[in-house]
Amino acid sequence: MKKVSLWLLNFFSITSSVVAVKFLDHYRIGGLFSDDIHKAAFQVVIDNLNKKWDTAPFFLIGDSLNVSFTNHFHVQKAACSLLDKRVIGIFGPSSRHTSSYIQSICDNKEIPQIETHYNPNVEKIQSDINLYPHAAEIAYFVMHLIREFTWDTIIILYENNDSLERIAPLLELNIEYGVQLVFRQLEVDQDGSYRAALKIIKKMSVTNILIECSLDILEEVLIESQKVGLITEKYRFIITNLDLSTLDLERFQYSGCNITGIRMFSTENENLIALAEKIKTTPHLIEEELELKRIMTLSTVLLIDGLNMFYDVIKELSEMSKIKAEKLKCHDAISWKYGSTIVNQLKSKVYQGITGRVSFDLAGFRRYFTLDLLELTTKGLLKVGQWDSEEKSLITDRSQVPQEESDVEHSIFNRTFRVLIVLTAPYAMLKESTDQLIGNDQFEGFCIDIIHELSVILGFNYTFIVQEDGKNGNLDRATNEWDGVIRQIIDGNADLGITDLTVTSDRERVVDFSLQFMNLGISILYRKPEPVPPSLFMFLSPFSTRVWLMLGVAYIFVSISIFIMGRLSPSEWTNPYPCVDEPEYLVNQFSIRNSLWFTIGGLLQQGSELAPIGISIRTASGFWWFFILIMVSSYTANLAAFLTVETRVTPFKNIDDLAKQTEIKYGAKRGGATASFFHDSNLTTNQIVYKHLKEHDDQMTDENEEGVRRVETENYAFLMESVTIEYNVARHCSLAQVGGLLDNKGYGIAMQKDSKYRNEISTAVVKLQETGVLTKLKIKWWKEQRGGSTCSIQSKKSEAEALDLQNVGGVFLVLFLGALLALLGSFIEMCVILYRKRKVYKKPFKYLLWKELEFFFQFGKNVKTVGRDEREPVSNQNNKVSF
Ligand code: GLU
Repeated sequence: MKKVSLWLLNFFSITSSVVAVKFLDHYRIGGLFSDDIHKAAFQVVIDNLNKKWDTAPFFLIGDSLNVSFTNHFHVQKAACSLLDKRVIGIFGPSSRHTSSYIQSICDNKEIPQIETHYNPNVEKIQSDINLYPHAAEIAYFVMHLIREFTWDTIIILYENNDSLERIAPLLELNIEYGVQLVFRQLEVDQDGSYRAALKIIKKMSVTNILIECSLDILEEVLIESQKVGLITEKYRFIITNLDLSTLDLERFQYSGCNITGIRMFSTENENLIALAEKIKTTPHLIEEELELKRIMTLSTVLLIDGLNMFYDVIKELSEMSKIKAEKLKCHDAISWKYGSTIVNQLKSKVYQGITGRVSFDLAGFRRYFTLDLLELTTKGLLKVGQWDSEEKSLITDRSQVPQEESDVEHSIFNRTFRVLIVLTAPYAMLKESTDQLIGNDQFEGFCIDIIHELSVILGFNYTFIVQEDGKNGNLDRATNEWDGVIRQIIDGNADLGITDLTVTSDRERVVDFSLQFMNLGISILYRKPEPVPPSLFMFLSPFSTRVWLMLGVAYIFVSISIFIMGRLSPSEWTNPYPCVDEPEYLVNQFSIRNSLWFTIGGLLQQGSELAPIGISIRTASGFWWFFILIMVSSYTANLAAFLTVETRVTPFKNIDDLAKQTEIKYGAKRGGATASFFHDSNLTTNQIVYKHLKEHDDQMTDENEEGVRRVETENYAFLMESVTIEYNVARHCSLAQVGGLLDNKGYGIAMQKDSKYRNEISTAVVKLQETGVLTKLKIKWWKEQRGGSTCSIQSKKSEAEALDLQNVGGVFLVLFLGALLALLGSFIEMCVILYRKRKVYKKPFKYLLWKELEFFFQFGKNVKTVGRDEREPVSNQNNKVSF
């Protein structure tokens, strides 16, 4: 039914044309098209114009030919056939490759040629006018935009040489303003897609992208960009194709991606829609069931504007003086005399078309026009400004942009963030439960609680994603590639990343961090210092060797002094028989032996039966005893400390000691911030450590837990962050932190570069700090949950332990040695006396010794008779001075 009515409509329009041709002048306009839509549009517009024939003294005949896109010969032949049919103007062709041939024919024959496609030829010839806006003017606007957006580095994705030519003026951005331009061609990979090229872009840290390509591939490029993760909040696009608004961008409009575009006309123009409906239903196209937007491309609309403008000019000229169409031959030298008048008229006219103001410069370029600035919002593409290429001014109006998109607070509220976590205790852990848990419920830990608290303050929702390889993010300096959490954030696979993620300058270059929620530094985890095994001579420890030596010297000195004073002091010479008034001799108790005995008795606080009489000796004794009092008290006090306090030693005290030795292995988490700290540090020690870490990959670990395990089981030290050390030391009682902090840094929440949520999240983190929530959470996860009190309970249990033989063994040894010495002394004394008295007894020494020993072994006898009678002289005992 629909087809029948269309047929009737065409029939009547053709008959009416035939009738009109009989009575009116008619002008033939040629069209050289490679596209059915253009051909149909050409005919529809001419039919529409012919409907005005009651006001115009002529009638138009549209003569459009299908021409090849690239075959020059074919196009040339078609143009000549049109000239032969008395055309007064030619529209097309649509290909720049064949355009120059038509241009030269039209120029020779002075037939106006109206182009509606981009043509880079700068040297225009007389008869040609081009409705396509001049590329330099568009480039100027794009430069203006880039400067307004303050982009300092841009990736320019271009399709081919045509695209490059169009954007060549952008080089000025680099020359004049120092903007870095990275040019990348949209090359098709082996799978026939642009994914490989886009993935390369993804790996770069640049987030400002300009796409210059034809409409044919634009949609595919955008879809592929979305697939590789470029259409995210992090990236900002400028798309220079003027047909952007003819694409369906719904799939991108909720991505949060910043897409800016430009256009010349609105696809909502009612006249255009009506025309497009007509074009759509022309016999050639009706089968194809095209979308209206597919028809409303710039080249079609420019063709419409061009035909209308041409019609107006012809009308004006034919009213003034008759234009006479002439038959022209390609191979002769005759040209059309009215052609230049039409072209000049076209160039001087300002026409208001669907694409706005249509006017040309003297060369026939369209220079002065307006462009709409577009922005992709959740409501679709919206016009947010207008550029006047004559005034070089941009007037923006963002009132149509949905409020919540310019208001961060609202956009964070109710948003669902994908939060990337790493399963590292105590930051994020799987809950220990017998129930099957799913979703966010599966996880618990310090960072899990922080995200919950932030979500309460800011009102967002969240879903946790786990970083399976457990990596926080390491920069491979050879490829400049990140891995781990940082990679995922850069790629837009997660919105927030939270774990023991250290804020480093390298990471800050590619992602944004919230304010730090925890402060820490690098330190060393090692086994607790070992108690020193008590030495046998521990009783000597209270005094140093020098004090012991001095004590010995003091003893000898005082003993000799007392001996001398005894001999000098008259009161020390006493009467051995007090009953005898006039004694024959006097005795002195302070012989050298007694002096030594007296001082040692004092030293060991046992006293002796010797009592000094002389003032001098008494004074000396007083000082000696006072000295002893202090020394013994000091010794006792210090000995108590030495016996009770365990002396512990570590084989190293700090990183310098650790770096110097080779016996203890040491490492850090592979690819972690700790390892990269040593890489970046200039200090000699840190460089030594870095060299060690690099050369001993077997001593590096993939996870903190592995490091802790190795410290417990091997002679291994693990370089680790202080808060994680604190966590592990509270649970593994044999471990301790050695040395202080090597640096000062913190953990932050990572998000994409230039994230609009950064400030909100940072403010909320500060709030958690101020209200003590972070401290509470730290106590919960460090000291309370998951065995946090294990080691504190154990240390409380330890009581003062009884002293073992090891502690006092040395004293026993001294005792036994002393006893043995005394025994030996008594034997020697016996030998000496027997030897001395061998003459008195008139017996040989051996005999006397034998007798003495014989008596010794007769343990039952307490009275020494045998030998004594024989040995002992009758008289002549010591009778003068005892010693
Ligand atoms: N916090 C470190 C990071 O963000 C991991 C642990 C470490 O290197 O000690 O990479």
